[in-house]
Amino acid sequence: MKKHYSIAIDGPAAAGKSSVAKILAKKFNLIYIDTGAMYRAFTYAVIKEKLNPKDENESCTLIGKVDIILNKNGTVLCNGEDVSKKIREFEVSSNVSYISSYKDIRLEMVKLQRKMAEGNSVIMDGRDIGTYVLPNADLKIYQIAEIEERAKRRHLENVEKNIDSTFDNVLNDLRNRDYIDSHRAFAPLKPADDAIILDTTHLNKNEVVEKISSLIKEKLGLIEDEQ
Ligand code: C5P
Repeated sequence: MKKHYSIAIDGPAAAGKSSVAKILAKKFNLIYIDTGAMYRAFTYAVIKEKLNPKDENESCTLIGKVDIILNKNGTVLCNGEDVSKKIREFEVSSNVSYISSYKDIRLEMVKLQRKMAEGNSVIMDGRDIGTYVLPNADLKIYQIAEIEERAKRRHLENVEKNIDSTFDNVLNDLRNRDYIDSHRAFAPLKPADDAIILDTTHLNKNEVVEKISSLIKEKLGLIEDEQ
């Protein structure tokens, strides 16, 4: 019998992937890996070093020098500093898609992501998990929603977390990121051929969790963790 399972959740920005993945991880006793947080942490390091995120050569000088740790409690460390909140702020959000378009930075992040998945049952969310990072994932979901709905959700989330936000800024940021993420040359945002497309525009979080839970039970035969 197979011991470890992997679930990939990909899709455009603010489609609700991470909040759903966190709940599913608890429910099915899986390790949750937020790959977006890793690209965000690298972007934070580039900005902190006063390098230009739009300059590939400058940004790539940090390869091998940024230690990123995703803790089980959800905090993100970048070279020992807790950057959990800072990586959600506008300066990082508006630059992360440049950083994540650089192949050498991606290769470093992917190496780390695969290592984290090795020997574990994981649920990993991102843009290229089903197509590139874990092409043999047991279940691949491609989660989408209309852009206005995604912007509305992300803006509310920012307000709740005390992160500076306006609906228009969020909408522009999502549009810009989705464009860059889906047009980059290496491992762009796109559904894997064997991904299940899930449109969440008219679904609330619980409904999305229920839908994916049913797929996990049906396709992987996993049962919910009672604890
Ligand atoms: O998931 P999140 O929106 O936090 O990701 C931030 C950015 O990181 C994305 O817009 C994308 O540029 C990049 N990313 C990526 N590949 C992943 C995860 C995130 O390129 N697997």
